[in-house]
Amino acid sequence: MSLDLREITLTYPDGGGRLTALDRVTLHVPKGGLTAVVGPSGSGKSSLLAVAATLISPDAGTVTIDGTATTGMTRGELTGLRRRKIGIVFQQPDLLPSLTAAEQLQVMAWLDGRSPAGARPRAMELLDAVGLADLADRRPHQLSGGQRQRVNIARSLMNDPTVLLVDEPTSALDHERGAAVIDLIVRLTRQRATATVLVTHDRTHLTEVDRIAEVHDGRLRLPAPPPENPEGRSAEERAG
Ligand code: ADP
Ligand code: MG
Repeated sequence: MSLDLREITLTYPDGGGRLTALDRVTLHVPKGGLTAVVGPSGSGKSSLLAVAATLISPDAGTVTIDGTATTGMTRGELTGLRRRKIGIVFQQPDLLPSLTAAEQLQVMAWLDGRSPAGARPRAMELLDAVGLADLADRRPHQLSGGQRQRVNIARSLMNDPTVLLVDEPTSALDHERGAAVIDLIVRLTRQRATATVLVTHDRTHLTEVDRIAEVHDGRLRLPAPPPENPEGRSAEERAG
């Protein structure tokens, strides 16, 4: 139950040549873990998420979701994998204007071939988890930017994903609301045991994440791992 990117290289056509957007990127995120990815505009953050989401297939390297390598899967297989295993939160919530908050979530069940009415309890549970139970019947224009982003996050969890990929969720929000959205993503990652990658340009809210990776010119730099614990037990366990 994890996300594993191994030696990912991605290039785009660029005039006569190729632009290297990701350069041998390796990243492992365990179940319930949250890695934040920061880096300047154009450094490759969204490309990294698009590859992890299996929306773009890399030139080289492997993406493994929940123990299954995605290399060689057909388009149809990848679509199914995304629906069942991957929650994606884009920068701007692309909510459907005519649907209520609860219906935005119920649509996800319908896309997966299940009854939207049957999915109502799950939709309500998730709206409650993001603090919007009272606003379930509002349409997007009746919600604030921060509330819309919460609906977007709740929707990404509708099919109980293994992997949660979040791209700059706070870019349209003020500082306080941005902090609340990051806190929410951290809490949901722990509670729902997703392997989460959170891309953000704003380091200030990242106190609760497991680690912060930096990307520059398509290269990912991870912080040094914590020192090995030879006995494989926590300090508390040893003390007790
Ligand atoms: P970030 O999200 O960090 O701003 P991106 O992953 O969007 O960075 O982009 C990384 C690099 O790849 C940039 O130089 C960008 O211009 C380029 N790029 C992104 N998408 C495409 C595309 N579809 N075609 C060509 N070049 C692209
Ligand atoms: Mg981006």
